[in-house]
Amino acid sequence: MRVLLVEDDEMIGDSLRRALEANGWSVDWVKEGELASSAMADGGYACVLLDLGLPRRDGMDVLRRARAAGDRTPVLVLTARDGVEDRITGLDVGADDYLVKPYEFRELLARMRAVIRRRDGSADSVIGTEAVRLDLGTREVVVGGERSQLSAREFALLHALLERPGAILSRDQLESRIYGWGEEVSSNAVDVLIHGMRRKLGADTIRNVRGLGWRVAAAPAPDKAGRA
Ligand code: CA
Repeated sequence: MRVLLVEDDEMIGDSLRRALEANGWSVDWVKEGELASSAMADGGYACVLLDLGLPRRDGMDVLRRARAAGDRTPVLVLTARDGVEDRITGLDVGADDYLVKPYEFRELLARMRAVIRRRDGSADSVIGTEAVRLDLGTREVVVGGERSQLSAREFALLHALLERPGAILSRDQLESRIYGWGEEVSSNAVDVLIHGMRRKLGADTIRNVRGLGWRVAAAPAPDKAGRA
């Protein structure tokens, strides 16, 4: 999955990027607020890690603009400011959660998972349908009782498809959810990825809709699982 890292401190940003990449994230890193706003407008991020003290546009302003534009991407505010006023303002402006520096990296990962699954409408770490269940904590998928481990890219792809089961995502939409800036993406990368996942999970798990893209079948549930 892709994360947008907004951090102007070179050392903090660099170590955070490395640690996130080591945990399977594709990281786009920007160091000032205006670029953060344009990256958010481009979309495709599972989560945004936002520093508040930034050159050219304050992090709070980045967040306010994104929410005003209807952007609902989960935003985790990372800040050295430990004043209660900043925390309250951040949450009121639309942050999903915040962490005060210094924090433990494991806690950051856990909070990222939490804000993402809340956006997915799940109270625990499992999202998906009756047929395909994805555990955001362990990156395991369960299909027909069989549990399989997914690579970082397989996980990003399946997560994108399971956000709205039944919805068709195009090749461009899937690429924007899987690959970060500057990553070489061959024209058939998504096909190769899906081919491998079908072999692993069964051909029916991800269906091709000719000319449009791919989808995971919506659960054959009698009610709509509370989604309005
Ligand atoms: Ca800063």
